[in-house]
Amino acid sequence: MESCIFCRIVKGEIPSAKLYEDEAVLSFLDINPINPGHALVIPKKHYPTILDVDEEDLKKTILATKMVSRAIKDALGCDGINILQNNFEAAGQLIHHFHIHVIPRMEGDGIKVWGGKPYKEGVMQEVQKKILSAMVK
Ligand code: 5GP
Ligand code: ZN
Repeated sequence: MESCIFCRIVKGEIPSAKLYEDEAVLSFLDINPINPGHALVIPKKHYPTILDVDEEDLKKTILATKMVSRAIKDALGCDGINILQNNFEAAGQLIHHFHIHVIPRMEGDGIKVWGGKPYKEGVMQEVQKKILSAMVK
């Protein structure tokens, strides 16, 4: 993917503040952080969304996410961590190279990640049925 910013970061064509790197995974600081220390963890190979990622690369990426989260927690002394992962533009995905956000959080930092709204009567079961009928294990 010639034009993908994250592929270019992997190749070293665009500089990044690296936190972790191995043969399959790279982690670096987000250039526009929600809080200081906000990091991204990506497979080096280009996959657009979680639906495309090879299983081995997915495992390696999530294990690196845990390692990076631990380092961020210990180093920055944050009170919490959000792990976020956006897929497709409707969900806020801007860079179409699969990535996991690691966001350090402080008590009372005022960042609202999402707001839930309750189901109407019976709708939860309908939705459950639909999803179960499409489940491929
Ligand atoms: P998305 O909305 O796709 O889940 O998040 C993409 C993230 O990539 C954003 O938080 C954005 O700040 C970050 N980002 C975009 N371009 C660059 C870049 O060139 N370098 C770094 N380090 N982060 C970037
Ligand atoms: Zn890419």
